[in-house]
Amino acid sequence: MRLRSGVLAAGCLLLQALGVAIFLRGFFPLAVRARPRGGPRGESPPEPAPPGPGTVSNWTKIPPPLFKKVVIVLIDALRDDFVFGSKGKQFMPYTTQVIEKGTSYSFIAEAKPPTVTMPRIKALMTGSIPGFIDVVVNLNSPALLDDNLIWQAKTAGKRIIFYGDDTWVKLFPKHFVEYDGTTSFFVSDFTEVDDNVTRHLDRVLKREDWDLLILHYLGLDHIGHVTGPNSPLVGPKLREMDNILKKIHISLLSKEGEASLPSLLVVCGDHGMSETGSHGGSSEGEVHTPLLFISSAFEKRSGPLTQPELVQQTDLASTLAVGLGLPISRNSVGNLILPVVGGKTMREQLRFLHLNGFQLSRLLEENTPAYEKDPGYEQFKIAEKSHGNWIKLYLEGNNSEILMNLGKKVLKQYLEALKTLSSSLSKQVAQYDMYSMMVGTVIIMEVLLLLLLSVPKALSSRAEFEVPLSPSLFSLLFYLMCLVLCAVHVIVCTSAESLCYFCSMAWLTALGVMMLISALMCGILSAIGKILENSRLPVKNPVVSSSSWSEVDVLMLAGTIGHVLSLGASSFIEEEHQTWYFLINTLCLALCQELCRNHFLLKECDPQHGTSLKQNFDGIREASDCKNIDVPASGNSKLDKVASSAEFIKGSDKWLSLASPWIILICCRLLRSLNRTGVQWAHRPDFGHWLTSSEHKSELSFLAAVSLVMIFFLVQRRCSLVSKIAMALGLLGVYSYRAAIGNVVFPWQHDSKDISKGITEARFVFVFVLGIVFTGTKDLLKSQVISADSSVKSTGLWEVYSGLVLLAALLFRPHNLPVLVFCLLIQTMMTKYIWRPLKFDAAQITIMHYWFGQAFFYFQGNSNGIATVDVSAGFVGLESYVEIPAIFLTAFATYAGPLLWAIHLLCYLSSEVSRNAAAVGHGCFCYALMRSIPVAIYIVLVTGLRYHLFIWSVFSPKLLYEGVHVFITAAICLFFTAMDQNHSQKVQD
Ligand SMILES: [Zn+2]
Ligand SMILES: [Zn+2]
Repeated sequence: MRLRSGVLAAGCLLLQALGVAIFLRGFFPLAVRARPRGGPRGESPPEPAPPGPGTVSNWTKIPPPLFKKVVIVLIDALRDDFVFGSKGKQFMPYTTQVIEKGTSYSFIAEAKPPTVTMPRIKALMTGSIPGFIDVVVNLNSPALLDDNLIWQAKTAGKRIIFYGDDTWVKLFPKHFVEYDGTTSFFVSDFTEVDDNVTRHLDRVLKREDWDLLILHYLGLDHIGHVTGPNSPLVGPKLREMDNILKKIHISLLSKEGEASLPSLLVVCGDHGMSETGSHGGSSEGEVHTPLLFISSAFEKRSGPLTQPELVQQTDLASTLAVGLGLPISRNSVGNLILPVVGGKTMREQLRFLHLNGFQLSRLLEENTPAYEKDPGYEQFKIAEKSHGNWIKLYLEGNNSEILMNLGKKVLKQYLEALKTLSSSLSKQVAQYDMYSMMVGTVIIMEVLLLLLLSVPKALSSRAEFEVPLSPSLFSLLFYLMCLVLCAVHVIVCTSAESLCYFCSMAWLTALGVMMLISALMCGILSAIGKILENSRLPVKNPVVSSSSWSEVDVLMLAGTIGHVLSLGASSFIEEEHQTWYFLINTLCLALCQELCRNHFLLKECDPQHGTSLKQNFDGIREASDCKNIDVPASGNSKLDKVASSAEFIKGSDKWLSLASPWIILICCRLLRSLNRTGVQWAHRPDFGHWLTSSEHKSELSFLAAVSLVMIFFLVQRRCSLVSKIAMALGLLGVYSYRAAIGNVVFPWQHDSKDISKGITEARFVFVFVLGIVFTGTKDLLKSQVISADSSVKSTGLWEVYSGLVLLAALLFRPHNLPVLVFCLLIQTMMTKYIWRPLKFDAAQITIMHYWFGQAFFYFQGNSNGIATVDVSAGFVGLESYVEIPAIFLTAFATYAGPLLWAIHLLCYLSSEVSRNAAAVGHGCFCYALMRSIPVAIYIVLVTGLRYHLFIWSVFSPKLLYEGVHVFITAAICLFFTAMDQNHSQKVQD
């Protein structure tokens, strides 16, 4: 059986996507948890027994609650400086006064990445650290089954009322006696989400029939997402929150006379926001949130406000459990925040700490085999012993200074033990499912090997790959391998102690994967066999010896290898954009040199040139893996090629051609200053920030309008008339959409008073996008089925491409429209002045497209952190959150750069009539190869670095990006293969 290289590449990428999916499932571990439902819930230890016989403490039950009513006000994306910084002083006067002079304790709570709402709510209520994969399932959260504060409170008969983000209602579906959930997905709504919470407040505060009130305000987060933390909208929102806090506090105080116990008001944020207003990553602004405890039970603050102490977000769950008189959740890794119970007697404080320590050491026992050697566990045992001694003294009636000092010592011992225990428990979150990871890695590596081994065949002029079907030796090998792998599977799964995803799959599915692995292995072995056979033959491959290596080839090889190697270092991942910017700049210089040689030197056509080059790079060719047989389809030597193309360019075109690399370099420099990305320099001001600030609205409007006009002129030249008109109307629609949601203004419109969601405008554009893509598809089908006319086909492809450009123009923020303009401009110049005259082969052009695609991924403001994903793109034209379109639009907007370059590659390769018919197949194969090399190597690197300090903040987000990119590339390759259809027919004819 013969496979075309396009089909081979698409198939390989699909398999690789499967491997990546298995790997990701194994890599993102589940949180540390107690053994599910062992003994009765909430069992609690008595006070440590004093040493010596006879004396027994009478404190065996959970201590009674310290507060009657508890109100938790969670303000989404409340950053620490919004309360403690100058903004807080200015906009939250009441809160500031309570912090500085009232009866309150203030802390900065540190949230663990991913700083996304749902995992953070889980962390706040269970005290555990949710697994990283919670980011992915953040959008549809199933009910929380772990032991948690809300469950405990409900079991203890507390009545809980909740208003706010409906994530809570999904997490705790049957726990609230009264609730009103607000959907959080419509990020451009700033007021309604909060009014929906506040409207219940007056009524509820008057009532007596509740014990715990939870309010989750979303407006601040939405303001952050759309306009950033320094927007003028933040101040009024903070003032609104301040008034709400004042209302609640005063109401709670007014009731305290009647009640025996005081009330507690807790103010917190689930996460902060970055300097651009989004969240998800681990920058200081995103992880630092304020945490305020306000209650008349506390001592009045005196003296100047010092910097609030840093605590963990997970500490809130245990603190509230103690405050409400509930057992601490079993999976909690948090520590009791001592000042909150500081007003109690020494005996009570020690009791609370003991309960907390007992719970943590129990969790450690259940998760670590060698728990007895853990320093935290040892410290806890020592503290427990001295606690017993203290109780002995206490029960003997000793009430002197000595008892007080001893108590303080025990307290300190406990606090240290708690800290050590919770840090060693937090480390345990990194429990990997190694077996699934190995299976995924094996598939990915096999696919990569197969791709590499098939390079010579796939890039040959026939672009075909022979699949050996059932030589008897291989079928025997196949069955043997299947048997061995199944045996291994059974052994691993029966002996594994921890939960394993791959073992939990159905047996037939697992068998299928085993067969796949064996089949791939046989494929690899037969490919190796074939290569060995060929090398033994006396006839050398004539094509290889005639091709020589140009500087561009060497640069591409070195760049690819260098980039892959750089993925092993966290800083290189954080600043990956720099790698790509460097590579494309160097590429431009190399192209410039090539052009100069082409125009000036090769007139004389020195024969030395080719041979000396060849000698230089012979050595490299031996060592190289992917590019060494990158054969020009025609089999021409480089020299002939260059000489023939020298006559191609004449007159003014010659100078334009020479200038084009420099123009591209200038474009890249401009794009670079548009969006700063990465971590190190992300906070520096960039042009994008300047444009989006509210004072520069008219400049932004002008730029957006000019960009849209430029996009039209760059894209329309190869469209049919209908598409041209549709394109113009669509781009007009893009501008009116941005004007409707208040990003830009029309010249006649001086104040943006009526801001709408722009649903109509966006849907208007969607109609044109679909129309253009449909016209293109129709042309494609026509060329495929009726006439094999390549000009119809290339128009069709170009129309599909221009439809996608229009969609990108709609989804991009207005300040990012120049990215699209430069993308089109560079593509046009490259096509006209560089690729066509220099006659690069398909593989070289593919690699250049891939590089530019990667660079544009970062030019548009993306980074390798979760925070830069522009979620607002998923809401364009949607009334409410609809999962599938939202995910599709967000993914498209995020990967628009690489996608547009890939589709342009297809347009370019299939429009070149002079090219070998197999060019599209070559392109597809190279594209697949370029994607699978970094993924495969990165997965191995990440496995090796899984205990690295930055694994959650740097390597995991990058892994997610790489994974999604593989899925997208697989889709692109399928499209390539579909388009490759009639070329292959031509080859066969
Ligand atoms: Zn949030
Ligand atoms: Zn948010």
